[in-house]
Amino acid sequence: MPHCEDCGNSLYFIASSVSPVAPSAAGAASGLTGRFDARGKLVELDSLGATAETRRKAAANPVLYFDTCMECGSNRVVW
Ligand SMILES: [Zn+2]
Repeated sequence: MPHCEDCGNSLYFIASSVSPVAPSAAGAASGLTGRFDARGKLVELDSLGATAETRRKAAANPVLYFDTCMECGSNRVVW
């Protein structure tokens, strides 16, 4: 399961490789946000500009996409 080494967050992560449609919108740092359950399963995808194809790929292989902690912005995310 994903886990932030800096703040301990294991629920919310963003994909730094996916750009948001409007970088200034609500301070969003990514076009794709994922919510995970306690076992590390992706339970929700929030998209701010990610294409359907990107969403599909991220859902199929979240470890390749969610590399940044949404709580503190750290990229020290371990799986
Ligand atoms: Zn963190």
